[in-house]
Amino acid sequence: MRELRRDPITNDIVVLAKNRSKRPMDRVKYQTDKEIKEEYKEDCPFCRGNEKHTENPTFEIKDKDGWLVRSVYNKYPIVDSLSDEIYGEHEVIIDTNRHNGSFYNMSEKEFLYLLKMYQHRYEYMAKNEKIKYISIFKNFLRRAGASLLHPHSQIISLSIVPPEIENEISISEKYYNKYKKSLYEAIIADEIKYKNRIIHNHRDYLVIVPEITKYGGEIRVLFKSNKRFEELKERELEELAKIFKNLFKKIYDVQGYNPFNICIHTHPVNNSESKDSHFHTHIHIIPRRYSFGGFELGTDVYVSSINSDKLAKKLRFD
Ligand SMILES: [Zn+2]
Ligand SMILES: [Zn+2]
Repeated sequence: MRELRRDPITNDIVVLAKNRSKRPMDRVKYQTDKEIKEEYKEDCPFCRGNEKHTENPTFEIKDKDGWLVRSVYNKYPIVDSLSDEIYGEHEVIIDTNRHNGSFYNMSEKEFLYLLKMYQHRYEYMAKNEKIKYISIFKNFLRRAGASLLHPHSQIISLSIVPPEIENEISISEKYYNKYKKSLYEAIIADEIKYKNRIIHNHRDYLVIVPEITKYGGEIRVLFKSNKRFEELKERELEELAKIFKNLFKKIYDVQGYNPFNICIHTHPVNNSESKDSHFHTHIHIIPRRYSFGGFELGTDVYVSSINSDKLAKKLRFD
């Protein structure tokens, strides 16, 4: 039996086809990528010691041995400040000085520095009043779109609010107008009641494997309050760093060294007219083990064969 469902946050249409995971190809263990061994690589432009390739960093967090996280201008920016049609800045954040560092092996402290860096660059970019949205994302490994292997994230400021964010905000607004309650609070309450899709329930964050998503096996970190990303205090960043550390260790233990994307969906900035008071910051963690076929690309209808209860159980941590 097939069910047609919609992702409550994005409205994506998904056909639930749980038994499709029994197809023969799915029984084959996925080939994982080769792990990087060396901590330093002479020809890597992002390694500590090779700063000549990325002069004039926009920010650095350092200790006695040198920088630990570093942000630099992207040499091949998606946006620049030359056009009025789409305006913005594009920076690369080098997640760690370690060439072989990755979300799968970073320490809590490394995650904290990285989150602080995200917030620092976000606040800096938001000072420009022409900027309406700031996108923070990460591509890990080639299959997730990374062109360089040294672990890095990207942050792009934009003079427009991107359609996906407009869409999610409008869904949260319509829900509020219809039911007089917050969509995100309703989702969080339902997930807590149901329990089985929860990976981790923290005071400020809920980590779940949603049942309906267009990307099979996506994980979401939902902020329990409608606090803006830039308002997170040191303690809240520390908690989030701890969650990242534990979550990625679990993902590694269960699924191995695989490509993924991270998108942090935050509120628009410098936009007093944005109807985002019922929108909650959240993080999409998207595994890139599968790729879409012609059906998905041609119809915008997605097929999910993931058992979210089972996956959440495997990834659960305290
Ligand atoms: Zn490197
Ligand atoms: Zn989102």
